Amino acid sequence: AKIRVGVVFGGKSGEHEVSIESAKSVMEALDRTKYDVVPIAIDKHGRWHSGDNAVRFLDGGWATLAAPRSGEALLTGDGMANDAAGTEAQEAGTGAGAQDTGTTAALHDGGEQINSSQALQPVGGSSVLPGHVAESIDVLFPVLHGSYGEDGTVQGMFELLDIPYVGAGVAASAVGMDKILMKRVFAAVGLPQVNYVYCTRTEWEKQPDLVISRVEEALSYPCFVKPANLGSSVGISKAKSREELSQAIVLAARYDRKVIIEEGANVREVEVAVLGNDEPKASVAGEVVPSNEFYDYRAKYLDGESSLLIPAPVSGEVMDEIRRLAVLAYQAVDCSGLARVDFFVEKGTDRVLVNEINTMPGFTRFSMYPKLWEATGLSYRQLIDALLSLAIDRAEERR
Ligand code: ATP
Ligand code: MG
Ligand code: MG
Ligand code: MG
Repeated sequence: AKIRVGVVFGGKSGEHEVSIESAKSVMEALDRTKYDVVPIAIDKHGRWHSGDNAVRFLDGGWATLAAPRSGEALLTGDGMANDAAGTEAQEAGTGAGAQDTGTTAALHDGGEQINSSQALQPVGGSSVLPGHVAESIDVLFPVLHGSYGEDGTVQGMFELLDIPYVGAGVAASAVGMDKILMKRVFAAVGLPQVNYVYCTRTEWEKQPDLVISRVEEALSYPCFVKPANLGSSVGISKAKSREELSQAIVLAARYDRKVIIEEGANVREVEVAVLGNDEPKASVAGEVVPSNEFYDYRAKYLDGESSLLIPAPVSGEVMDEIRRLAVLAYQAVDCSGLARVDFFVEKGTDRVLVNEINTMPGFTRFSMYPKLWEATGLSYRQLIDALLSLAIDRAEERR
């Protein structure tokens, strides 16, 4: 019998559109002679949709966000910058970006939908219910990025439902998503990193001067200011002065209650794909050459002008070191399935620093993660097969 694969995409995070793009590629590539593919969409309010209603969400990829003014326009969830994303998506002819956060907002015409309290009850024939998912699906592939997708929350639900799923478990997802927790775990195993400080939104609101002086004591400009939990560079700024630092913290604090401020390194950016459970393997490393001053949302997805150099044009020693550290970082957070580990290679010195781990990296055919495996000898389709097997293996090991 065919294996029933539930592909879960969309989600409540600022990376909703990116997730849709990744999921489209995955669904196209899944070998239909081996798998039955069940699309499962999560809308921006966190409601689940299946069948034709799920398929309709596939039109809501980043093509619908023709010209976001900044990553900020993509913020969703708490409704902070939600209006901008909603407006743009609707102008582009889709309802993928609903404007209000009410549980009854119509996302698209005729779309069957459920809210989170109804999610426990069957509603209509097309809504997807976690309990029903458990009955009919052999393995889930949550192609979700960012909060409520890559952060352990949805993974925890799959654990409770006892359904095998692709990718990192609860703890690795949660630690990997939180840049502060991640840095602490990396430090504990001796991984080299940039210097950083962090503050909570409360600290910033109550004592901004103290936060600024803490940053200026520990770091020099330029620095990078980031929401602690996010991805796709959403909410990230490079600050070259005290004034820019303040603005950057205000922006980042809109996305998360914790803000991390890092020393800005003068670097090349090199990334490695890691695959496996207890015996993870690292791919060759690839370099990202951003089209902007740094690898921001626009450079990642919109202008199409950033380039990926695979393999990364670094020395043999640097290549080996990066691959070794990638596996170390992977194991430090107890990752399984897959992750992309991102590095900085300091210009001039070639010193290697770990930037971060992404437990559900961009997964379109053109994304770095699958490209790195292709260059290492694993096709996109083989990679998906490997991930599904790893998911099933892990579930069996735990039983
Ligand atoms: P992803 O989409 O990979 O999950 P992210 O949102 O988690 O990204 P980061 O990778 O932390 O964000 O940072 C985004 C980009 O900002 C980096 O790729 C790099 O271009 C730049 N950057 C971030 N931190 C630094 C730093 N400390 N020094 C220099 N450049 C940095
Ligand atoms: Mg990241
Ligand atoms: Mg990410
Ligand atoms: Mg990154």
